[in-house]
Amino acid sequence: MRFRIFADTWNHAKNLVGAWSHSPRWLGGVNLLCVVCLCAISAGLLVDLRRDAALNAETTSRNLVDLLARDIARSVELYDLSLREVVENLKEPDVLAASPHLKHVILFDPVVYAEGFGQIVVADETGKVTMSSDKTIPAISIGQHEFFRYFATHADNSIHISEPLVSRLSGKRIMILSRRLEKDGAFAGVVAGAILIDYFHDLFIAVGTKQLGVVTLYGPGGKLVMREPYDQQLIGTSVADAPSYQEMTKSHSGSFSGPAIRAEGERRFVFKQVGTFPLVLAVAVIPAEIFASWEWKALSLGAIVLALCATTMILTWLFRREIRGHQGAAQALEKLATTDALTGLHNRRRFDEVLSRECRRALRTQSPLSLLLFDADCFKGFNDHYGHQCGDEALKLIARSIDGVTDRASDVACRIGGEEFAVILADTDIAGAAMIAQRIVDVVATCEVPHDANPHGVVTISGGVAALFMATATDKDELVAAADRALYAAKTAGRNRIEAVGPQVPFVYLAAGQ
Ligand code: GH3
Ligand code: MG
Ligand code: MG
Repeated sequence: MRFRIFADTWNHAKNLVGAWSHSPRWLGGVNLLCVVCLCAISAGLLVDLRRDAALNAETTSRNLVDLLARDIARSVELYDLSLREVVENLKEPDVLAASPHLKHVILFDPVVYAEGFGQIVVADETGKVTMSSDKTIPAISIGQHEFFRYFATHADNSIHISEPLVSRLSGKRIMILSRRLEKDGAFAGVVAGAILIDYFHDLFIAVGTKQLGVVTLYGPGGKLVMREPYDQQLIGTSVADAPSYQEMTKSHSGSFSGPAIRAEGERRFVFKQVGTFPLVLAVAVIPAEIFASWEWKALSLGAIVLALCATTMILTWLFRREIRGHQGAAQALEKLATTDALTGLHNRRRFDEVLSRECRRALRTQSPLSLLLFDADCFKGFNDHYGHQCGDEALKLIARSIDGVTDRASDVACRIGGEEFAVILADTDIAGAAMIAQRIVDVVATCEVPHDANPHGVVTISGGVAALFMATATDKDELVAAADRALYAAKTAGRNRIEAVGPQVPFVYLAAGQ
């Protein structure tokens, strides 16, 4: 019993798999799955590439800012070292008492002279320049400068960096670095030196800022010191009110997205304070520039993936159409091979197939299976009298009568010989089968097709009914033989009637209408 359930399940699964593998639908399903996978993988790849593009841009900007900030800080520290030397030496009474030449040697010989660094001057408490690292002392006063006024009122010993301004001595743009001089704790003047703005420009170009967006060095008060791409008009202008600049003043270094400082749209900022000085270095990149190469890759990859998907889908569709065509042709051939051309019923070949299958099933499921055999009565005489053509028409009428009565989907009606017909009735016992057979015989007779050679005067048929139930009949030949014997009995008993043989009453003939 258990084995039978297993065998049934296995057969059912096999049928399902067989039907599925022979159906072109699975092709479409697999193709759709491949297309979805390909699109998902491509989308994942593009998301990764986009993240990489953003990360690369951020890293490049950060590296540039770090490098430039370190260079600028080192230059300012170096120059400040010279200023501190002067401040310290001026505290020595011996130095103050020395001759002007010796004083110049002591104060300014250690001074670092480099391109981009201007002369260092010493001014007294009135602002008058009293000493200079140059041979000639400029006859000017620096008392009007903001840094001088600051030191005059603030006992601050740290370095002061001025906003960008134009030198009165050279006419060049400079930033002044200065320190306070004291005598006995009181303000005694200022030591000041200039760094040329162009020096920063050279530094910017040296580190190769050309590849990125806008690189800017902001001085005290948000004044623009240097910018690459270079724009002389903007040097010295203030951006103190710009929200993105204010964001930069909140921390020592960082990155954020914010509104462009001097243009429309959004920028990605990476910034850093230069050492401990009031200088901020920033790189601003337009997001579209960051993703420009990614967008190109995304478009190319997207186009290739779409083209591939479209190609596979078209090929699959063509292939499916081809398979369908083949299947249609195979089905048409199969139908042709199993159909009787004259009556449209199943033919002998199909009858043998179905009967074998149904016998096996009936024995397996212990359900009854009935077989009806019909034979046209005195048909030779009909042909002889009315002609073969009329004989064919009479056979078609008999076929229609059989087909009209056997209306269950499982009923299989066949023409198995010249004027012989069979009906296989699954799940039908002998009583049910006899009833159906009788109905068919009656339908043919009530058509009242004249038949002079038939004692009944009209076209009639005789039927033999046999049933296979439980193990009373073990193969289809036995069933056919039993039905055939019943048919022979019907013929002998006078035609236009049926005889039935069942398992409980083997070969007990039932007269028509009983
Ligand atoms: P019985 O009542 O004993 O069956 O008598 P019968 O004349 O029908 O007996 P028999 O089997 O000897 O005759 C069958 C006849 O059926 C022979 C043939 O003329 C006719 N027949 C067989 N196939 C066809 C067919 O395809 N078309 C036509 N028109 N007649 C056919
Ligand atoms: Mg016959
Ligand atoms: Mg006959």
